[in-house]
Amino acid sequence: MPTPLSNVASTVVPCPVVESLDAILPEEPLLMMGAGPVPIPAAVAKANTIVINHLGATMVKVIGQVKTMARYVFQTNSKWVLGVAGPGSAAMEMAISNLAWEGTRVLSVKNGFFSGRMAEMGRRVGARVSELDVADRSVATLDEIAEAIRRERPEIVTVVQGETSNTVWNYQLKDIAALAKAAGALVIVDAVCTLSTMPLAMDAWGIDAVITGGQKGLSSIPGVSLIAFSDAAWARVKGRTAPNAHWCLDASLAENFWHNAGYHYTAPVSGVLALHEALRLVCAETLEKRFARHLKCSVALQEGVTALGLQLYAPLACRLNSVVGIEVPAGLSPGDVCAHISRQHQVEISGSFGLPIVRIGQMGEQCREHNLFRTVHALGRTMVDLGVKVDLPAGVAALERGLSGGK
Ligand SMILES: *Cc1c(COP(=O)(O)O)cnc(C)c1O
Repeated sequence: MPTPLSNVASTVVPCPVVESLDAILPEEPLLMMGAGPVPIPAAVAKANTIVINHLGATMVKVIGQVKTMARYVFQTNSKWVLGVAGPGSAAMEMAISNLAWEGTRVLSVKNGFFSGRMAEMGRRVGARVSELDVADRSVATLDEIAEAIRRERPEIVTVVQGETSNTVWNYQLKDIAALAKAAGALVIVDAVCTLSTMPLAMDAWGIDAVITGGQKGLSSIPGVSLIAFSDAAWARVKGRTAPNAHWCLDASLAENFWHNAGYHYTAPVSGVLALHEALRLVCAETLEKRFARHLKCSVALQEGVTALGLQLYAPLACRLNSVVGIEVPAGLSPGDVCAHISRQHQVEISGSFGLPIVRIGQMGEQCREHNLFRTVHALGRTMVDLGVKVDLPAGVAALERGLSGGK
């Protein structure tokens, strides 16, 4: 005869014994200088510990401020700013899956790993995607873009502002958007890495959807992202007949929460509060000063790395400042360098999907002078430890010169 407790009296899967986080986490936190996630300011960390009612009056106010601040950061007056519970890739999927469907003609300017992801997402919703494959370490010329647009007659063009994987900067983004616009296409821009680290003017440049993540330029936590649609893009979202197969990413359903104080799914309230604080700090700094800080720090870092005797991966003309790619000297692998600098110097940097480089991020809190000195020193010492001849004092001196304006 089963008793009410017999269901729980014995477990088939035994209770596991695991270590506490205190036992797992390093005694000294690693300095996160890779391609993301990046260090977060104290105000962001504090906000991330708070849970409030996802549908209460406080949340409504927070959401309103997040949208207002995001409009400044995106440089748009469009009403259609929304948050996304998920990584930058979820925001990307929200843009693609709401604007493209079976048979939509999409032209994807593919500079590397991340811009290629937008093409892949387009194919998955049944769009007819053509890729403009751009050679590594370069950008497409405007003639090539114009020619591809003439050939493919896309309804949507996707392009990345900063291709984090090979550290290439699409510096002609404004002109690419203008070409697409002139041909009647909507433009989706991946600004996950670059937003708030360098200029991007959504309205002035005629961009129809901008996506970003939390854990890169904005210096918030990973897993809560932002997206903005232009009026034209929103009209396409509203005008579609087949519903989006992605229920969580359906922009019309997300409108309930982000614009009408209603329920879609339970928002990641702590993460939204963290994002609020990250955006508030961007506004307190102002975009102009933030761009200047990023530029100065990244250029000084590049000078420091070069003075060590190492080679930068991307040519100057299309070099991304938000993430710096460095060639790994012969005989070493990116994994060797990343493992050593992490273990011996408590600095975390990144490899890159099979490319022979390591990457140092210059996003948000990474662009602080003390972080740069520690990183250049740790990189130089790592090279010495691994048997590579570098000039460590020259690297540190060049960094200092760069940061102090060459004086
Ligand atoms: C990091 C990154 C992404 C992906 O963001 P996730 O949060 O990892 O999903 C997309 N595009 C670019 C340019 C990125 O740098």
